[in-house]
Amino acid sequence: MTAMVRGAAANVDDPRRALPAVDALADAAAAAAPSTADAGRGLLVAVAREVLDGARTRLADAACGPQGDAAPPDTNGLVAPSGVDDLVAEVSRRIAVILAPRPRRVVNATGVILHTNLGRAPVSRAAAAAMAEAAAGYNDLEYDLATGRRGSRHDVVAPLLARLSGAEAALVVNNNAGATLLVVAALAGGRSVIVSRGQLVEIGGGYRIPDVMAAGGARLVEVGTTNRTRPADYERAIDAATALLLRVHTSNFRITGFTASVGLDDLVALGRKHAIPVVDDLGSGSFIDVGSFGLSPEPTVQASIAVGADAVTFSGDKLLGGPQAGLIVGRAEVIARLRAHPLCRALRPDKATLAGLAVTLQSYLRGRATEEVPVWRMIGGDVEGLRARAESWLRELGAAEGRRATLAVRAALSAIGGGSLPGETLPTFVLSIDTPHPDTLAARLRAADPPVIARVEDGAVLLDPRTVLPDEDEHVVAALQQALTPAPPSPP
Ligand SMILES: *Cc1c(COP(=O)(O)O)cnc(C)c1O
Repeated sequence: MTAMVRGAAANVDDPRRALPAVDALADAAAAAAPSTADAGRGLLVAVAREVLDGARTRLADAACGPQGDAAPPDTNGLVAPSGVDDLVAEVSRRIAVILAPRPRRVVNATGVILHTNLGRAPVSRAAAAAMAEAAAGYNDLEYDLATGRRGSRHDVVAPLLARLSGAEAALVVNNNAGATLLVVAALAGGRSVIVSRGQLVEIGGGYRIPDVMAAGGARLVEVGTTNRTRPADYERAIDAATALLLRVHTSNFRITGFTASVGLDDLVALGRKHAIPVVDDLGSGSFIDVGSFGLSPEPTVQASIAVGADAVTFSGDKLLGGPQAGLIVGRAEVIARLRAHPLCRALRPDKATLAGLAVTLQSYLRGRATEEVPVWRMIGGDVEGLRARAESWLRELGAAEGRRATLAVRAALSAIGGGSLPGETLPTFVLSIDTPHPDTLAARLRAADPPVIARVEDGAVLLDPRTVLPDEDEHVVAALQQALTPAPPSPP
């Protein structure tokens, strides 16, 4: 094969000889588009070389086809004058991909509020501004302005968290998976943790409670059964090695029927009796009672503290509606043990996270979270307002010649998502599009700029205004306009 390629390369008729030189292609691509020129010489030359290598390989493959006969090489027009244009375009396209904003902004029209694949909670504009400000400048992250000495980043938002939750102390780490790992390692490393069999949850992304125990160096002691666990099950399992009683919120599934679980109050009583700390991993902990939004009631963070949990862990970017973080509130002595563990350093949050979290927590402290935190604005979204938005999308799209899709506004359900409140839904109105090829239409919406992510349900494409941010309506309409016209979608 190598000899054949070399032989071919020596041939004066070899179309590969017509390929431009690397520098010439880079120059041509830079001249063609300012955005490509902006890539800088090093990247431009590297990409031009990759594109030429690809073209050379394709030409060589075409020249010595499977039979090795002398069939005219399929040059795909690559070396005709227009072929050089194609190479230039390919360089520009690849540069654009490399230099495009990442992660890419998308419009979430799925109606799933905490969509983990789409980045979970969008933070408020004020929180986002604070994050940008903190990231771009200096701040007193670990500096005591009064004394001019070193301070701790752990003191930046902890007072806000403690005030909101009623706990003595608080700690912020990178995410709630990190928070539970730290709790297990610091409070129970080398000893054992008792967990109900009904709570050995897998959150997703490979995060499973038994694995967290192993990673934290603790031994998992399972008690009860999948559907029923009683206080006596814990009582029997407690021994000299027991270091922690852990309650885990069954965030993303529900056991119904013949069930029994041990309330946090009973667990706290057991912990006190045996002098063993009790930690409540709430997962998607909330400071607001979701019951007041027509959802089935969930324990709040402050309720778990009031009942007497020694520590409560929860996510920053689930129902709290802030940036990704793991929040731990609890007794000062427990928080001090967590802070002293080496993992605490490994899991420490970034300054931008703390800045966004502070603004989010301040919304709660000011009693304005349901108005200011996007997640709560979405949960509280008025159904008539949602209907009006879906209808305005429909109106703006108007009728179109030859459209094979049927559009209508109809009642549907939004979900909370993000491993929070499984099965809980909120009534909404969606723009529903009946088309012979819903997956094709959904793909075309994803190809828009910005991509619009819809939901395909029962053969229809649904777009739910609940999760579309107020200034994104025009993107939804534009993407639909493009995806639905001129030709109706056809199968791929
Ligand atoms: C979501 C969840 C976690 C993980 O939290 P992240 O912030 O995603 O790391 C841990 N425990 C429970 C019970 C959860 O619901």
